[in-house]
Amino acid sequence: MSQQPASAEPGFFAELAGQDAVVAQLRTAAAAAAAVLAGERPAPGAMTHAWLFTGPPGSGRSVAARAFAAALLCPDGGCGECACCRQVQAGTHADLLLVRPEGLSYGVRQTRELVLRAAGAPAGGRWQVVVFEDADRCTEQAANALLKAIEEPTPRTVWLLCAPSAEDLVPTIRSRCRVVTLVVPASAAVAKVLMTRDGIEPAAALAAARAAQGHVGRARRLALDASAAARRAEVLRVPMAAVSLGPALSAAAALVRTAEDEAKAVTEGQDEPEREALRRAFGEGSTGKGVAKAMRGMAGAMKDLEDRQKSRATRVKRDMLDQALTDLAVFYRDVLMLQVGADVELANGDREPDLRQVAAASTPESTLRRLQAIMHCRERLSLNVAPLLAVEDMTLSLVEG
Ligand SMILES: [Zn+2]
Repeated sequence: MSQQPASAEPGFFAELAGQDAVVAQLRTAAAAAAAVLAGERPAPGAMTHAWLFTGPPGSGRSVAARAFAAALLCPDGGCGECACCRQVQAGTHADLLLVRPEGLSYGVRQTRELVLRAAGAPAGGRWQVVVFEDADRCTEQAANALLKAIEEPTPRTVWLLCAPSAEDLVPTIRSRCRVVTLVVPASAAVAKVLMTRDGIEPAAALAAARAAQGHVGRARRLALDASAAARRAEVLRVPMAAVSLGPALSAAAALVRTAEDEAKAVTEGQDEPEREALRRAFGEGSTGKGVAKAMRGMAGAMKDLEDRQKSRATRVKRDMLDQALTDLAVFYRDVLMLQVGADVELANGDREPDLRQVAAASTPESTLRRLQAIMHCRERLSLNVAPLLAVEDMTLSLVEG
């Protein structure tokens, strides 16, 4: 990855493609926070201790939260270069708590522990920052524990919550946070980030940015990771195969299998190191009488860990499949745009012959029905219907048109 600071925006804020208003707001807040530390009078109302970052998936909620964390923790306002900034980047800064629910929800016990840790004084003498990703996955009790912390703030603790929309959090929490709304960035802005930060050549950067629909991380993966590009190709085979039942069903099965394999590769890579770390934690320092007690404790902790790993595996699998279905929906949206003659940028411009072929062979009404079938399939998956079953049913609708 090349590191030329070709973008005008230095440090982490450069990652926030097309979010100029948000960047300006966060910079003002960070300057006010620095004034507080310097014992000066900050700009009134610019800084507050609880923030809620919202925006569609991939718009950069957690990137914005981290950039803001760096701006608060770095003596230089988040320069992106110093030791402090590098620690924020790596997630190892002593005053930064990064929280990411690993299962489908975030429990009350974990939240209470977090609130306790967050109340500590910052080791670096600046701020104690908590970045809480997917805060919408809090259970009701966990949300109550979190609310207490936000209602009675510790002077130097800053909470940065992330959620798809403000409505995803209970009103009591939402009303106490300053809401930062990220927008879906334009493809050109995403492409610019890929070009300047990752050294990807312009045409490839723009194609990846369009295909990723404003999702910076995904655009980067599509441009740099051959297996991500291959998975997208697998998904986009479905519409082409949806002319007869046999090929359509096998394309659908391949889509589910690819998503599951990918999810497995992701989670298996995390599972064993986690188990190993747990064994080490219990193995060290337990001798004599302590051993039996430690062994019992470890069995319980291992069971806990395995439960969490299982629910994480389910979540990753669901997310991967949802991504595949989103790609599929975007393909048909492009088809619809061609059918109605709308003058818009095609997300799958690199597949224009395929798009035109499907557009010519069907009507806008049929494309709308197909889009509905995909949305219905996503809903069913979120209700835990068996993936292959849901995707096969969807495929039948795609073939019917
Ligand atoms: Zn720095």
